[in-house]
Amino acid sequence: MTIIVTLRELHRILRQLADLRGRLAQGPRIVAAGEANVAKREEELRVAKEGSMRTRVLCNEKEVQLKQREGHIADTQRRLNACSSNREYQALVEQIAADEQANSVLSDEILEMLDKITAEKEKVIEIEGLLVQARQDLDKQRERVASERQSLEQEVARLSAELSSTERDVPAESRADYDRAVKGRGEEALAALEGDCCGGCYQRVTPQSINELKLGRVVFCKSCGRILYLLEDTRPFGG
Ligand SMILES: [Zn+2]
Repeated sequence: MTIIVTLRELHRILRQLADLRGRLAQGPRIVAAGEANVAKREEELRVAKEGSMRTRVLCNEKEVQLKQREGHIADTQRRLNACSSNREYQALVEQIAADEQANSVLSDEILEMLDKITAEKEKVIEIEGLLVQARQDLDKQRERVASERQSLEQEVARLSAELSSTERDVPAESRADYDRAVKGRGEEALAALEGDCCGGCYQRVTPQSINELKLGRVVFCKSCGRILYLLEDTRPFGG
């Protein structure tokens, strides 16, 4: 392999490895997002159930209050029937009227609460459905990420081996520089020459550096320090 081809290959392998590692790193993030979604639905369900329970307790209390006041009205009615004084009679009539008025308000409140209980029950059922869906999604995500991880790891292993074997073609005198650059910057350690610019930082590369590149030397971009390579294997002497 000529150095030009070697560097081009190395950059391709390094980029693919970076992509694969990025996808590997994405897996746990996808699962974490799914877990967060399940946790969010669980919390929503807890809040909805609590709210629904509270409304039911409140509604029961109001129903008890209504019954008690109805009993009170019946008592007053009995006292009214047995009443002898006109003043007492008037007071009892007023009391009954007041109690009936209060119960009429209370009945309306209870009816409203019964509507609220129905709506809250529906909400709980809806959230339960969403939670089931979120858990199913999470299971599928876990499964998919696990199976993808296997094939991604195999691909990383294959490419890592290809990288090692291709790196053996880096000229000995440039190997230390190459290793240092790749260790520090990974796939960013290399850049293709695009026109007469570095494909990494887009600064102009001197004609002298381009000539050296074409002669098959290892050339670093003077602006960004990337190792440059040619996309086309065109050497000046038709070699
Ligand atoms: Zn550059």
